[in-house]
Amino acid sequence: MARVQLTDVTKRYEDVTAVEEMNLDIKDGEFITLVGPSGCGKSTTMEMIAGLTSPSDGTVMIGDRDVTTLPPKDRGISMVFQNIALFPHMDVYDNISFGLRLRDYEKAEIDRRVDDAAGIVQMEGMLDRMPDEMSGGQRQRIAIARAIVREPEVFLMDEPLANLDAKLRVHMRTELQRLHKELETTIIYVTHDQAEAMTMSDRIAVLNEGELQQFAAPLTCYNEP
Ligand code: ADP
Ligand code: ADP
Repeated sequence: MARVQLTDVTKRYEDVTAVEEMNLDIKDGEFITLVGPSGCGKSTTMEMIAGLTSPSDGTVMIGDRDVTTLPPKDRGISMVFQNIALFPHMDVYDNISFGLRLRDYEKAEIDRRVDDAAGIVQMEGMLDRMPDEMSGGQRQRIAIARAIVREPEVFLMDEPLANLDAKLRVHMRTELQRLHKELETTIIYVTHDQAEAMTMSDRIAVLNEGELQQFAAPLTCYNEP
């Protein structure tokens, strides 16, 4: 896990300021959510933390390192998105291990990590199944396992539950909280779902028109609407 620190971060595109003078200090191992209306700068913020795009001004630090100075493989960041893109022609084992195989890890190390990750998302015993044999929730868990095997210091999740049905979304909230505890990793989570933000996160960052408006713990007495 790692502290993530945005200091005076601004991101300008030709005619818009997507993020303006943002200061966000996310603690080691914290679970935070980013919320706000469409176009408020959530995706841009995530992209800058991932080092996929550079700030126009300011700095993004992961631990004690400036993310823009690190090559992608050393950033210690994994991402899970709304649109789960599993490789349809690969079984679960091959999908989960894909990133490790690319990086030439040894077979024994790959097997150990795949077993651990599959256990965490409760998909052990299903490693030889194909994606089209599984439910949406199972596929999303595989996408999460694929991110876990990299043993990231920071987990970025952009609406990872958006495509699941209501019942499964609620179930997956509990899973993600358990995952956060087990992995002891820093999680930065984007959602439109107020209940998700309220029930899962240590703190909620509210963005509006590129500015951070509030960064605080959710009310503990939140009741499901
Ligand atoms: P989110 O708001 O959850 O981050 P997106 O950034 O993907 O989701 O935006 C939601 C929808 O709004 C997408 O279909 C996207 O194409 C659209 N959208 C985003 N920014 C603009 C914009 N400036 N003008 C028109 N449509 C936009
Ligand atoms: P959100 O994820 O909250 O919907 P975004 O970070 O996607 O917000 O977008 C913030 C603003 O920056 C929007 O006005 C959007 O249209 C604009 N924007 C995002 N990406 C680009 C881009 N690549 N080029 C130009 N404008 C962009």
